[in-house]
Amino acid sequence: MIELVFATNNENKIKEINALLTNSIKLLSLKDIGCYEDIPETADTIEGNAILKAKYVYEKYGYNCFADDTGLEIKSLNGEPGVYSARYAGEEKNADKNMDKVLQKLTHYSDRTAHFKTVVALVINSKITTFEGIIEGKITKEKHGKDGFGYDPIFKPNGYKITFAEMPLSEKNNISHRGRAVKKLIHFLNSKK
Ligand code: IMP
Repeated sequence: MIELVFATNNENKIKEINALLTNSIKLLSLKDIGCYEDIPETADTIEGNAILKAKYVYEKYGYNCFADDTGLEIKSLNGEPGVYSARYAGEEKNADKNMDKVLQKLTHYSDRTAHFKTVVALVINSKITTFEGIIEGKITKEKHGKDGFGYDPIFKPNGYKITFAEMPLSEKNNISHRGRAVKKLIHFLNSKK
């Protein structure tokens, strides 16, 4: 059994990842290890932030750990909001306002191509390994659906007629950026047993 901390306070992410894990991996939350502080996310890339978060927990709390960082990269907006996805419309990190800003900025563009990118950084005994997952899609013209979180109501993956927010969690997990990165992580962990 491998014990690993997942360095996030986002209950949605914990739910998503627990649904993918096998019995051989026991996931600990930040609460489980008594970490209640805000972990810095000050890097200027998605990969940099994932590494920063995982290293922070490993160095300060002594647990093997993984962290993820995700960004929505929109082609017509030169990759925005990217690493700034959480606070695109301000420090309050409001998902509705972030989506409104994207929809407003895209009004004059016909190319609505975008992708989600997740990088998972794993630290085991001070060795860092990263795993990337990408899902390509399009930004819709309006919000659709109530499930999921973040930008899910305006992201329609290629090959689908519905947004992430209209899909059951299992379906989103199967194809999503985070699902893909986590499957690579799990494969790596299983190959080490
Ligand atoms: P984080 O830094 O990985 O927590 O994510 C940055 C931003 O991307 C946050 O605003 C999230 O709401 C958004 N985000 C992360 N993952 C997803 C997802 O699976 N769907 C929609 N938005 C997401």
